[in-house]
Amino acid sequence: MRESDGSGDKMLSGGGPGAPAAFRSPLRPRDTADVADAVRDAAALGVPLRIRGAGHWLDAGRPVPASACVLDVSALRGITEYNPGDLTLTAGAGTTLAEIDEATRANGQWLPLDPAGATTATLGATLATASCGPLASALGLPRDLALGLEFVDGRGIVVRGGGRVVKNVAGFDLVRLTVGAWGTLGVITEATVRLRARPEAECTMALDAPRETGTLALLLRALREAPLTPIATELVDATFRAGNGDRGSDAVLVRLAGNAASVAAQRRHVESLGTARELPASAWDRLAAADPDGAFTVRISHRPSRVADLWHAIATATAEIEGAVRHASIERGVVRLIVPATAHEVVAPLVRCLASHASVLGERLPRAAWEALPAVTDRLSRGVRAAFDPHQILNPGLLAPMA
Ligand SMILES: Cc1cc2nc3c(=O)[nH]c(=O)nc-3n(C[C@H](O)[C@H](O)[C@H](O)COP(=O)(O)OP(=O)(O)OC[C@H]3O[C@@H](n4cnc5c(N)ncnc54)[C@H](O)[C@@H]3O)c2cc1C
Repeated sequence: MRESDGSGDKMLSGGGPGAPAAFRSPLRPRDTADVADAVRDAAALGVPLRIRGAGHWLDAGRPVPASACVLDVSALRGITEYNPGDLTLTAGAGTTLAEIDEATRANGQWLPLDPAGATTATLGATLATASCGPLASALGLPRDLALGLEFVDGRGIVVRGGGRVVKNVAGFDLVRLTVGAWGTLGVITEATVRLRARPEAECTMALDAPRETGTLALLLRALREAPLTPIATELVDATFRAGNGDRGSDAVLVRLAGNAASVAAQRRHVESLGTARELPASAWDRLAAADPDGAFTVRISHRPSRVADLWHAIATATAEIEGAVRHASIERGVVRLIVPATAHEVVAPLVRCLASHASVLGERLPRAAWEALPAVTDRLSRGVRAAFDPHQILNPGLLAPMA
C-alpha cells in the first residue's frame, strides 16, 4: 500500500517502535483499497494495528499495546451519496459528525447521533464504538441508524453489509455485529446512515428532581407515563448543574420537540409535574462536554424501572469524591459516572464495588480498574473474532486483555 503524508507518494518502509522494519506508524490510507492492502500486509507480518479516526477517544477501552502501528483512516472522508428524499446518506469513515450535520441541515434533516465529545468525531469511530447520547432513546441507537457498512476484516478482505436503502434484504446482520465491536472485527471504511427530519420547534426544560429515592422513582414514572414525546430525557446531578452556573437540586432535562403547538402543550405538562424552568438548547452541548481532562468514566446499568435506586446508590458510593458527576439516561437505565483525575486512587475499588451490584461498562479507566471488570471472553465472541480477525491484529487487547 501507499502512504500519503504530504511529501508525495512512496511505498511503506521504515519501522515504528516494536513493528517490523517494513512498517512505519502511522499508516494513512486514502481509500478502501489502501486499507485492505495495509491490513493484508499487517496480517502477513503479524503487526498489530491501532485504528484511529480523529483520535479524540483512543484512551477509552482496555489498553492496546503502545507498539501497535496506527492505522489512521481520517482521510477516508467525504459524503459520497445523499438522498434527502429517502433520508439516507453514505459517507467515508473519516467524515466528521459536524460535516454530516452541516450537509443535512440545509434540507431540514439530521443524523440524530449526539455522543459526548467533540463534533469533529468521525462517523466510523462513532459507529465502531456505538457511541450515542441522550437522543438515542427516542431517535435510535447507532445500530438502528446504520443501514449499511463497508469494512475491511482482519484478513484484508473488503466486506459489505446492509445496503444504502431503508428497506433491506434479510440475512445475517453484519451491520449490527460490526457496530459496537470497537474495530475488533474490521476497519469501517464507509457507512450508510438513516437520517431524520429536524423538529420544527424545540424546548428544553429542567425539572427539579427530589433527593429521596421513592419520590424520584415516582417522578420518573410520571414522566414515562405522561402524554409527552420528548426526544431526550436525562437526569443530571446538582454538581453538573453547579458546574454550569445553574445552582439547584438534581434535575431531569427534558427535550421537547414537534410543532410549536405540541411543544407548548408538552411544556405545560412538564410544568405541572413540579418545579421546572426552561434552559437554552446549549445545555445538551454542555452535557456532551461534561468530562474534565483526564477524567475516569464508567456506565452502570440496570432495568429502567430501577434507575432511581441506582442513582442514589451511586451517589452514596461517591459521596466522598469531590467533583464526581452523574448523569443518567432514564429510558435506557444507564447511569454514567465521571470521576475527576485527582481521585484516581479510588477508581479501582469503586469500580469493583459497583460491578458487584450492577452491570458496569468501562470507558476511560486506570489499568487496575480494568481488572475489576469482566472482559469479552465468551466462546461466541471469541469465535466471531477468530472468524473476522484470525491473526488478532485489529485493536488487540481493547475488549479483552492480550493472552
Ligand atoms: C457515553 C459516551 C461518552 C463519551 N465521551 C467522550 C469524550 O469525553 N471524549 C471523546 O472524544 N469521545 C467521547 N465519546 C466517544 C465519541 O462520542 C466518539 O465515538 C469518539 O469521539 C469518536 O471520535 P474519534 O474519531 O475521535 O474516534 P477515535 O478516538 O479515533 O477512535 C475511537 C475508537 O474507535 C476505533 N475506530 C476509530 N475509527 C474506526 C473505524 N473506522 N473502524 C473501526 N474502528 C474505528 C478506534 O480504534 C478507537 O478504539 C463518548 C461516547 C459515549 C457513548
